[in-house]
Amino acid sequence: MAPHYLKDLDYSIVQQCIHCGMCLPTCPTYDETLLERNSPRGRIAWMRAIADGEMSVDEAFGKEMYYCLGCLACVSACPAGVDYPRLFEMARAQIEHDGVLDRPERRFWRWLAVETLFMRPRLLRLTGTLLRLWQMLHLDRLVRKTRILHILYPRLAELEPMTPRISRRFSDQQIGEIEKPANDDPNYLVGFLTGCVQDLAFSDINRDTVDVLLANGCAVHTPRNQGCCGSLHMHNGVPDRAAALARRMIDAFDLDRLDAIISNAGGCGSHLRHLSPLLKDDPEYAARAAAWDGKLKDIHEWLDATGIADPPPLPAFLRATYHPSCHLHHGQKVQLQPENLLRRIPNLELVPLTEATWCCGSAGIYNITQPEQAGKLQERKVGHIRDTGADLVLTANPGCHLQLQTGLQKTGTPTPVMHPISLLAKAYRRDVAL
Ligand code: SF4
Ligand code: SF4
Repeated sequence: MAPHYLKDLDYSIVQQCIHCGMCLPTCPTYDETLLERNSPRGRIAWMRAIADGEMSVDEAFGKEMYYCLGCLACVSACPAGVDYPRLFEMARAQIEHDGVLDRPERRFWRWLAVETLFMRPRLLRLTGTLLRLWQMLHLDRLVRKTRILHILYPRLAELEPMTPRISRRFSDQQIGEIEKPANDDPNYLVGFLTGCVQDLAFSDINRDTVDVLLANGCAVHTPRNQGCCGSLHMHNGVPDRAAALARRMIDAFDLDRLDAIISNAGGCGSHLRHLSPLLKDDPEYAARAAAWDGKLKDIHEWLDATGIADPPPLPAFLRATYHPSCHLHHGQKVQLQPENLLRRIPNLELVPLTEATWCCGSAGIYNITQPEQAGKLQERKVGHIRDTGADLVLTANPGCHLQLQTGLQKTGTPTPVMHPISLLAKAYRRDVAL
């Protein structure tokens, strides 16, 4: 099956933009440069010129489309309903297909991450295990102290502090394949997605999510053979790999039996609830992908719709602020539900965050590929968080979680970062520790 790229895209999508400019003030890259070409409208015009054959896909276009965060703030602002996510994904796919940014170093890192590690769950798990050992032996601190990486590979030295702390136990070591509520009389049977970065670095959030589902009448099926969701591949120009991972993911879940499939990561959920466009030409998977899309729910969305048991009061009064992940807020349109749930927790005050829906700079792997712009957005976000004086920051995506954590650490701010569902789980458990 031939993969689809920008040049093959349905022209009705390419010509949706009415040039009104309402997206411009919401775009972080336009805000940075005030240049039309760094805005959603400018990028769409460039894509249209390529589709019309007036311009070619070249290095400048490649760089522009990788300067875009893919944060989708423009989608929320657009009155014409422009399908920017599809344009963005197909533009990057065209760039990779045409190889206009191809360099040996870039090729190596893409091969390692996109083609190898995130295609092979066992290899990714093995890498996580080795990294955990490395961190437990404090070799990471030794490397930082001796500054050896600065000599051997300065770029890696810059990236090293962003390495997440690997969990002591992965999800399948603390979540049973089938778990049922204490009364053994569930109202729903749901599937649960453990993710890959979430599984390696935040498996405790996965445990908390299952606990909250159990506390609210759900039996939870967590298949063992889940792989990466493919959002990394889709957002980085490799739709055929994303399609292969989508098929694997669909095969892992018993769609007919499940009432819903639950995601707790904004970025993964945003990709996973739109598998049907990716598999629409696959006769074996098209119908199953459509059924999958209908059942994929974000955890906040699911709990808000089905209702939750009243959480007991937190042991001590807490002030928290909420940073919505872009892909949860703009991509999945799960906007009110996280705060609806949090307001149900007695003894918790939610403090508004200035520019809450402005990207924190994580944006998938943007903080690795565009560290300068990502750093500016991180600083801006951390400044707003500090201004709230909150005891805790809540966010529901592993990339944002890490970006906020490292940003707060850089400024010596001791405010912890937590997933909203972990706070709910703590309330149910009457857990005092943050
Ligand atoms: S996705 Fe974000 S960075 Fe890209 S054009 Fe839209 S608002 Fe701007
Ligand atoms: S808001 Fe939508 S229609 Fe208006 S310029 Fe931006 S993308 Fe085009």
